[in-house]
Amino acid sequence: MKKGRKINSLIVALLAIILGLINQYFHEGQYKVLRVVDGDTLIIEMDNKEERVRLIGVDTPESVHPDASKNVEAGKIASEFTKSRLEGEYIELEFDVQERDRYGRLLAYVWHNGEMFNKVLLREGYAQVATFPPNVKYVEEFIQLEKEAREGKRGLWAELPDEPVVEDKTEGKYVASKKSDKYHLANYTHAGEIAPENRIWFDSIEEAEKAGYKPCGICFKK
Ligand SMILES: [Zn+2]
Repeated sequence: MKKGRKINSLIVALLAIILGLINQYFHEGQYKVLRVVDGDTLIIEMDNKEERVRLIGVDTPESVHPDASKNVEAGKIASEFTKSRLEGEYIELEFDVQERDRYGRLLAYVWHNGEMFNKVLLREGYAQVATFPPNVKYVEEFIQLEKEAREGKRGLWAELPDEPVVEDKTEGKYVASKKSDKYHLANYTHAGEIAPENRIWFDSIEEAEKAGYKPCGICFKK
C-alpha cells in the first residue's frame, strides 16, 4: 500500500470517530427511534440494543394487533402520526415509578424537541388517556388535554359521529330505583313500590350489574 493511501484511510477513520463523538455529544441522554410499532409504541436504540418503549398514560387505537379485526383505521392514522413525528428522530425518556412493565418494555414519557410526545398525542387527538398505576404523575393534565381535543374535535375525534341517543327503557324483567343500588324482579311487589319517575328497567341481570346495581336480597332470596 502506498503511503498516501494509508494516510487517507487514517484520516477517514479519524473523521468517522470525530463525527461519532460530535453526534454523541449533541445527543447526550437521547436515543434514536429506529421504528414506530404503533401510535404509542416505539423501538429505540439504547446501549447498542433495541428496546421497546411504551408511552405511558396514553392509548392509541390498535394497528398491529394479531387479531386483524382490531386493526381499525383509526389505529393506522394514529400510527402514521407517530411515525411522521418520531421515526428516525432522537428522543429523551422520562420515567415514572416503574421503569419497565411485565413484558420488559420501557414505560416512559417521551420527550422530543422540548415537548412531551405523550401530551402531543392527547392534544392532537390521536390517543386517549390510559392510566398505568402507579405511573400516573401527569394524569390530571392528560385528562384535561384529552377533553380539549375531544371538544375541539381534533385528530381522531373529528371522525367520530355524535353519541347515539339511547332512549330510556319503560319495561323489562328487572327494575331498579334511581334512589338505591339494588335491582328487583319486575313482577315482584318491590317494583311497584318504586316511584315511576325513579324506575330504571333492565332486560337482563348482566345489564343491571353492568349499570352498577346489586340484586335485592328479598327478590333474589335462594
Ligand atoms: Zn326486591
